[in-house]
Amino acid sequence: MNDLYEHDGTRYSGDKVETDGKKFWFKKDAYCSKCGGAGYGPWFPDGGICYQCNGTGGHYLKVTRLYNQEQIDKINARREAKAAKYLADKEARREAARAPFMALHGELYERALRVQDDNDFVRQIAYRASLAWKLTDNELAALERAVTRAEEVRARPPASDAPEGKATVTGKVLSTKVQQSMYGSSLKMLVELDDFSKAWGSVPQKLCDLLGNDGLLVGARFTFTADFTRSGDDAKFAFFKRPTKIELIDFQKRSA
Ligand SMILES: [Zn+2]
Repeated sequence: MNDLYEHDGTRYSGDKVETDGKKFWFKKDAYCSKCGGAGYGPWFPDGGICYQCNGTGGHYLKVTRLYNQEQIDKINARREAKAAKYLADKEARREAARAPFMALHGELYERALRVQDDNDFVRQIAYRASLAWKLTDNELAALERAVTRAEEVRARPPASDAPEGKATVTGKVLSTKVQQSMYGSSLKMLVELDDFSKAWGSVPQKLCDLLGNDGLLVGARFTFTADFTRSGDDAKFAFFKRPTKIELIDFQKRSA
C-alpha cells in the first residue's frame, strides 16, 4: 500500500484503511463529546444523565478521509494557490488605499520617514500607516505633533558642554522630581540651559516664591548662578549646588 495522508498532511500509520478503489478512509471508535461515552456524570442535570447523548454514550464510527500522494499534492497546491491569492488581494487592497492616503497625508508621512530614527513613536505610527494606508484622526494629530517636535530637536545646534565651576546661566525647567535622602525629601529639577546642555539640582525656594501659587515650575525660564560639576559620564550634563540670584524670565500659569 502506498503512503496515505490525512487532509492536514499527517501521514496515516494505522492499518484500518478502507477503499472503494478511488477514495480512502479509516474508521475509528468515537463517543459523545460531552460525557466521553460514559452517558452520565454527577455534573450533568437530570440525575446525572448526559443531555447530549441522552445516556447512550453516543458511540459512533468516525470516518476520516485519507489521500494518496497524488491527491494530497492537489490539496496542497489548492491550499497554496488560495494563500497566494489571499496575499495578492490583500496587497492589491493596500496598494489601492495608498494613493488616497498619500494625497491627503503624503507630506506628513514623508516628514515622518525623515525623522523616524529619532523617535520610536513616529516610527511605530509610520509603520502602522504603511500596513493599510489608514490612520485615525487621533493618530494623525499625534503624529503631526511628534514629527514637529522631532524636527525642532533636529534643527537645534548640538548641545554645548555643560558648565563647570561657578557660572551664571539661563535655562528652562524640563521636569521635577521629589528625591528622598537621609536628610528628608527635597524637590529636584532638570533644567535645559540655553546652549542645550542639561543641569540637575535642587529647586531654590526663591524660584517657587517668584512663581507664586499659580505659576508652573515646569516650563519656567530663569537665570541663576550656581556651582556646577560636570557629569563624569556625559559632558553635556552637570549637577549644580547653591543656586542663587534667581531671575524669573517667563513661565506658564496653572490652568484654572
Ligand atoms: Zn453524552
